Amino acid sequence: DELARRSEAMDKNDTSGLRRLSRRAYLRMRKEKKVEEMRDEIVDHEFLFPGVQLTAAEERDMRHKKQVYGLVHDRDDGAGAGDDYYRMPDAYDAAANVDQEKRFSVARRRYEEPAEAARDGKTANAYTEQEAWEEQQIRKSRLQFGSMDRGRRGDEYELLLDDGVEFVRSTVMAGTVPADDDDAAAAAAAGDEYQAEAMDTKATLQDERKTLPVYKLKDDLLKAIAEHQVLIVVGETGSGKTTQIPQYLHEAGYTAEGRKKVACTQPRRVAAMSVAARVAEEMGVKLGDEVGYSIRFEDCTSEKTVIKYMTDGMLLREFLGEPDLGSYSVVVVDEAHERTLATDILFGLVKDIARLRPDMKLLISSATLNADKFSDFFDAAPIFRIPGRRFEVGIHYTVAPEADYIDAAVVTVLQLHVTEPPGGGDILLFLTGQEEIETVEEILRQRLRVLGGMVAELVICPIYANLPAELQAKIFEPAPPGARKVVLATNIAETSLTIDGIKYVVDPGFCKVKSYNPRTGMESLLVAPVSRASAEQRAGRSGRTGPGKCFRLYTEYNFVSDLDDDAVPEIQRSNLASVVLALKALGINDLVGFDFMDPPPAESLLKALEELFALGALNSRGELTKTGRRMAEFPLDPMLSKAIVASERYGCSEEVITIAAMLSAGNAVFYRPRDKRVHTDAARRGFHAGNASDHVALLNVYNAWAESGYSPQWCRESFVQHRTMRRARDVRDQLGALLERVEIAPCSSADLDAVRKAVTAGYFRHAARLQRDGSYRAVKSRQTVFVHPSSGVAQAPPRWALYHELVLTTKEYMRQVTELKPEWLVEIAPHYYERKD
Ligand code: ADP
Ligand code: MG
Repeated sequence: DELARRSEAMDKNDTSGLRRLSRRAYLRMRKEKKVEEMRDEIVDHEFLFPGVQLTAAEERDMRHKKQVYGLVHDRDDGAGAGDDYYRMPDAYDAAANVDQEKRFSVARRRYEEPAEAARDGKTANAYTEQEAWEEQQIRKSRLQFGSMDRGRRGDEYELLLDDGVEFVRSTVMAGTVPADDDDAAAAAAAGDEYQAEAMDTKATLQDERKTLPVYKLKDDLLKAIAEHQVLIVVGETGSGKTTQIPQYLHEAGYTAEGRKKVACTQPRRVAAMSVAARVAEEMGVKLGDEVGYSIRFEDCTSEKTVIKYMTDGMLLREFLGEPDLGSYSVVVVDEAHERTLATDILFGLVKDIARLRPDMKLLISSATLNADKFSDFFDAAPIFRIPGRRFEVGIHYTVAPEADYIDAAVVTVLQLHVTEPPGGGDILLFLTGQEEIETVEEILRQRLRVLGGMVAELVICPIYANLPAELQAKIFEPAPPGARKVVLATNIAETSLTIDGIKYVVDPGFCKVKSYNPRTGMESLLVAPVSRASAEQRAGRSGRTGPGKCFRLYTEYNFVSDLDDDAVPEIQRSNLASVVLALKALGINDLVGFDFMDPPPAESLLKALEELFALGALNSRGELTKTGRRMAEFPLDPMLSKAIVASERYGCSEEVITIAAMLSAGNAVFYRPRDKRVHTDAARRGFHAGNASDHVALLNVYNAWAESGYSPQWCRESFVQHRTMRRARDVRDQLGALLERVEIAPCSSADLDAVRKAVTAGYFRHAARLQRDGSYRAVKSRQTVFVHPSSGVAQAPPRWALYHELVLTTKEYMRQVTELKPEWLVEIAPHYYERKD
């Protein structure tokens, strides 16, 4: 009958005929899902976090859940005196083929980092696969045991997704491929092949290289490079600029004589790593040998390296060691259209170097067609255009504005997955950052779990800057046959990375942008609408291997009237202290006369000079001091560099570099499991041990980990992310080496006040005072700010505090907070603070 058929179809993962589900069955599934969520919570509470104190309200809530779940038995059924006793229903477990031991280990595994699982030989998402399998088993067993209502089946059927997002198709972005273009057909075929099976032979990779648009122009391009010292290269994203041009240069001999290298800069670290890995693969060499990458705190190059991908910030730092970039024969400033702060500074520096070194070639490569600006800046350098190849893209807008773009994005992805032919193309969803990506991933997984075998498999691939390298490669892997892939990406996938096989783009129209208020000196990351140029780039990502579709989660009216044409270059909305320090260290004193493509606001420059003066990096004439020279050696924010340099005076350099390393290793020191804040907070509090200081807590975490012999086991037991710790250790080693370079002897102090004073020496401008209402007032900017709820000092806010950074979410929050004695401010920064009375 119907149920048997459905169950069978589920096994075969066959979705035909299953698009529609009776409303009743749908509601039941929703209810089941709720119950299953409760089960998870109960398991976590009982087994994973025994002894964790719950508040009265949470206790009530937990009790309610247990009742619903049938786990609470009153005293009259013979369990202990008045105590509740809990058991998992055995029949249920047996039916689901899940034993207690396994369930327990599944629940625990959720908190282990995927990278570790991968190292242990399990697949990265072992938990999710296991979980999905179990869920399916459970559901199946229910069907078999007749727990689903066999009796009355409503005739009323309803879409699988009860809520939808309505779109209108309104424009078509014209393609650039004639219908009878052989190359395009070849490329599409290659794309299909790529989809169907993972390539294993080098020959396939070489064939694939030949299908890229840049290949046909290889000789012309090399000729143009030979004839001109500076060349602007413009071409559609995905045409092969980043991966191919450095290889062509290598093949043409630019790396042969005198062992000179080709540098290729990327605005993003993930792009540098991922592209280097790809090129190493194409050349059949080990990453780090002939092809390598260099990003902050991670140098994957060697003596052999001749093609070096690097972040623009790293090339900027290389100027400090080698002001003429003498070891490079070619410098490719790639993704120039992104106009990051470092790229903009590089423009001025490499232009200057090119004049000094006629033997050096300079390529500026960009995805925007508006390259005249680059040409003008580089003294009318010729523009080499790589004709793009893009199929037609249908643009769909929402009928009405969407209030919640996260929700709309999830629904649109599922809608596409269910209604578009399976296996016929992957989905790319643009989100603003890691947190958002993790949220969407979780919601998608939950909703897919509810849908169970009713829909084809959807492989979820997140990509963002802090994603561990092991997981980055996953986005390029084709989905298994019959399945679809959805890539959740930050705007890294807008132009820096090209993922083959994308047919649908979902664009909520937002991205994170840095904004800077030179008046208050506050820099913050804000979620803001993208520019029209970005929106067009994003849409274009769907038309690479065939006609595509782009779903914009906003109206056409929004697109036409609310978006800016282009994004403002970062240099005009950033704190410039860091680059000004670097320029001063390069001996560039006349900042106003520096050759900027678009000069920053004078106010920002002044503010940066002021800030560096306050930190003691510049003297009153604006010249670099000894402190400043030392600070410039550290690839850190000047405030953090200053704290390190100041640690010499307080005899605690060991402690301060540990703190600096922990602050640089990312925000994810502790696990952030969903809905489990109670538990990790308790773990966190242990490291505070009476110190009203998140900085000291970070120090304690690191030291405890070091004492455990850098043990992953210790991390698990302490709810600390091993990956973050490993990175912190790495960063710390490098900071230690830099200490030696600036001749600061390693010294250690047990006096935590000394450590705090050193931190204060860098962060005195971030002092804040507690107000009567529990908020803080930033002493210098007079802003009202709050302690971030994740901070260990949130429970007992000190009268005076300093913070590492401000994050703006619902409020302006201080992250990483430390108690401060106001007299320290006067002692440490007398030029900045004075005693009031
Ligand atoms: P462009 O720089 O012009 O945008 P790229 O050189 O980045 O173009 O991309 C050329 C091709 O290389 C694309 O088809 C892309 O999918 C592929 N590619 C780039 N990086 C990787 C990678 N890490 N893994 C697999 N394929 C990649
Ligand atoms: Mg590129």
